[in-house]
Amino acid sequence: MQHPHYYDVIVIGGGHAGTEAALAAARCGADTLLLTHNLETVGQMSCNPAIGGIGKGHLVREIDALGGIMAHAADCAGIQWRTLNASKGPAVRATRCQADRNLYKAAIRHAVEQQPNLSLFQQGVDDLVIEQGRVTGVVTQMGLRFRARAVVLTVGTFLAGRIHIGESQYSGGRAGDPPATALARRLRELPVAADRLKTGTPPRIDGRSIDYSQLQEQPGDTLTPVFSFLGDRHRHPRQVSCWIAHTTERTHDLIRAGLDRSPLYSGQIEGVGPRYCPSIEDKVVRFADKTSHQVFVEPEGLDSFEIYPNGISTSLPFDVQLELVRSIPGFERAHITRPGYAIEYDYFDPRGLHPSLQTRAIEGLFFAGQINGTTGYEEAAAQGLIAGLNAARLTQDHAPWTPRRDEAYIGVLIDDLTSNGTLEPYRMFTSRAEYRLHLREDNADLRLTERGFELGLVPAERHAALQRKREAVERERARLQALHIAPGQPFGEALTERHDVRLSRECSALDLLRRPELDYASLTAIDGIGPGVDDEAVALQVEVQTKYAGYLERQREEIARQQRNEHTAIPDDFDYVRVRGLSAEVLAKLQHARPTTIGQAARISGVTPAAISLLLVHLKRRR
Ligand code: FAD
Repeated sequence: MQHPHYYDVIVIGGGHAGTEAALAAARCGADTLLLTHNLETVGQMSCNPAIGGIGKGHLVREIDALGGIMAHAADCAGIQWRTLNASKGPAVRATRCQADRNLYKAAIRHAVEQQPNLSLFQQGVDDLVIEQGRVTGVVTQMGLRFRARAVVLTVGTFLAGRIHIGESQYSGGRAGDPPATALARRLRELPVAADRLKTGTPPRIDGRSIDYSQLQEQPGDTLTPVFSFLGDRHRHPRQVSCWIAHTTERTHDLIRAGLDRSPLYSGQIEGVGPRYCPSIEDKVVRFADKTSHQVFVEPEGLDSFEIYPNGISTSLPFDVQLELVRSIPGFERAHITRPGYAIEYDYFDPRGLHPSLQTRAIEGLFFAGQINGTTGYEEAAAQGLIAGLNAARLTQDHAPWTPRRDEAYIGVLIDDLTSNGTLEPYRMFTSRAEYRLHLREDNADLRLTERGFELGLVPAERHAALQRKREAVERERARLQALHIAPGQPFGEALTERHDVRLSRECSALDLLRRPELDYASLTAIDGIGPGVDDEAVALQVEVQTKYAGYLERQREEIARQQRNEHTAIPDDFDYVRVRGLSAEVLAKLQHARPTTIGQAARISGVTPAAISLLLVHLKRRR
């Protein structure tokens, strides 16, 4: 049976990648359908109800700057907020919130329901329609055929998903949801390289069975940060604390004794798990000399008694899970509401994707999210936004757009995946970016919103707000630059008295802001220099742009140098065998990765600067 409507873009999957993809495509004017198993699980967090953190917070801000929904949903749902690395430099400061699972889902559901050009349909997809190397539609479980020019696949951990708890295993997409078995089988027939990965989650606990007097309280920041550049901290829901517990030597003994029944160690699980989110059994084995590990006791929501014990993800048998949980001080009487489990699923080698996230093998078919080998809501949402945008652009005959590595962490993420692939679940860290000082959380809007507006992702009001902010920063910097302070002037004396700043000669207030003893608030608190601007975001920009001006300039020069060759294109049909002088190893790597630019080629491990020079010479000769 054929559905009568012909869509521009169909997005399969209503998770973090799928909702951003559908919203982005629809915002760009594409007639879009979001097809998902269950409309009640749109925007569901499969694991920890938390958004952001180091590197991930940067992605959330960038998604927001490009008109995405994740930051706004987190602002609606965040019940404990923290700025991580608050005492460190602005490049590595990161926002994280514990979210109320239901409030988050409700915000996402509201956004997709309100979005013009976007329709929803509840049904699992079992098949893709492919004609002459192009995707032309999808077929659902009940045999309904939907046609479209582009399809974005964002099915997370569901492809041939297999859940493991001890020796027992069964098929599932995540606890409580069915797997996508027929679709996985179909995809295995296509010319895209697939493999298995795994991830895991801890048992959930009824918070009423925990003795909090034995735990250490971890309140959030009192001045709560916001994620969205349009967010308002006064609109956050009620705030609550998280808590910290600790495993004991007895916990570790119990785990060691149960290892022979662990699917991770018995060989039952073959997929590789996330290095930076290891299971508790992995931590006990790998760090055998540690006698205790922290467990972050995090609420699942304001209306829920369940808590998420972050740090004890496990797939040990249930009886061992219960014993290990109860060996943690404060958890002696803990009641487990849901067992922990591991899940194995199919993912695709992301080197089979263009930077637009369109598959190289099938025109019009885009992949985003966990199926590209990543882990995490933020990584999924970032890819979803770019895939949805580019799917829409394909249907409108516009060239694709993906941010560069020096423009956004989203660019770093997609370039890392499409150039180098990944053998284990990939998560974002600030250390993955070369131009960290430039790619800060605080300036994501200044870096990306203008471009988002040109692409149709960002509405005019938001663009206008950005222009006002930019002008306010410039105005305030110009005011401080023009304000000259001489030794002996009354506010010069105030500086010495209050901040021990001595003036040997006349200088501008902007020069003073460069001094480590002073920040914007303390400088503008001085009569004659202040009052400064009220808007915190403007004040922060004035401070960061001034204090780090020298480093930022140096980084800009480095980016310019890098870019000279970065974007030199390598044609799809480029024959590396004809490049004389490449070693067999480099040749094999280039043939396998098929980079689209010299920049991508240079980042493939083992591809030397000498090999890049040979490539450049050959490319020049071809022209
Ligand atoms: P998902 O959020 O999984 O969304 C997939 C969507 O596709 C769902 O709505 C599903 O119903 C739908 N769907 C699937 N198949 C079909 C089909 N055939 N037809 C229609 N709809 C379909 N991340 C971390 O960062 N750290 C962790 O420790 C961590 N642990 C995890 C533990 C578990 C057990 C699981 C399941 C996930 C874990 N994650 C973790 C990963 C995190 O949940 C994902 O990275 C994120 O949800 C991926 O987003 P996504 O949009 O790609 O997929």
